[in-house]
Amino acid sequence: MDCTSESIAAAPKAVLHDHLDGGLRPSTILELADEQCYTGLPEDEPDALAAWFHQGDAGSLESYLRAFDQTVAVLQTEAAISRAAFEAGIDLARDGVVYAEVRHGPSLSTRRGLTREAVLEAMIDGFDRARRDTGIVIYGIATALRHETDSADVARAAVRYSHRGIVAFDLAGPESGFPPDSHLEACKIATEGGLGLTLHAGESDGPHSMWRALALCGAQRIGHGVHVVDDAEERDGELTELGAFARRVRDHRIPLEVAITSNLDTGPWATAADHPFGALYRAGFNVSINTDNRLMSATSMTREYTLAAETFGLSDQDLRGITVRAIEAGFGDWDVRREIIEAIEAEDG
Ligand SMILES: [Zn+2]
Repeated sequence: MDCTSESIAAAPKAVLHDHLDGGLRPSTILELADEQCYTGLPEDEPDALAAWFHQGDAGSLESYLRAFDQTVAVLQTEAAISRAAFEAGIDLARDGVVYAEVRHGPSLSTRRGLTREAVLEAMIDGFDRARRDTGIVIYGIATALRHETDSADVARAAVRYSHRGIVAFDLAGPESGFPPDSHLEACKIATEGGLGLTLHAGESDGPHSMWRALALCGAQRIGHGVHVVDDAEERDGELTELGAFARRVRDHRIPLEVAITSNLDTGPWATAADHPFGALYRAGFNVSINTDNRLMSATSMTREYTLAAETFGLSDQDLRGITVRAIEAGFGDWDVRREIIEAIEAEDG
């Protein structure tokens, strides 16, 4: 590990976009499969399984998403979900994360009879245990899948836990052909029930998908949102002129939960240097740095911060600013978030 990585590993970090079913430990997947008599795993050794999950050459969002069939298969009991949530909190804390929002689709874990409520309850239980053990502040986001029809039921279940650690509602899954405003009822239930709204958009589809999420659904944050650059003129790696929509996203300080490695795995950019994160940051967009799927993208917050710092020449101060703005964009208790921000700023001198 070089000096940059060492200081980044130790620095406090915040993650707003991390999927529970995209971040399991390979050894845990093997143990959970054994416990639940699931025999469909493609490998039976942790290293080989990790290599199988690393979808570095998936090439499209649709093929990348197929790997989740295997993690979802073992997240079908309360004990398994609680353990995965606990270990996510532990692993993020070890990675220097002090504030986390981790998401999961409760409907994915109902194959063996669990209710959506039981799934959310088990997830919160795991987060609470991780928080007690490490001090990490960790909240849950309930995700519905945009190609399914039960989003309103997911939102209703999530609202029941809005006072117990579920802070937002999300729409994920294949983007093309599944506009977020097909789920207006769910978005309304979630926001009326007091939840934050962060929707995946502008990940593989263009700015119109983000516009629908913001203008029609009322999203407060956007998962990814990197395709907002399609509404801007770019020259020599800089956004020279913003279109009306891109300008609004920047001027309204819409938080974009960017995950560089995940985008490289699924999108058109060959290397990190080609990714629009640097241009968006320099043009003043409110971008955060996220893992998305630690297992499938073989990444961590330290790795993502290091990648952004080294590729786009970000200083420690730039990274601290990104962390503080991410916590400001969080949906968790403000008193707790303000304390974390004050501690980071005090460290800064
Ligand atoms: Zn995501």
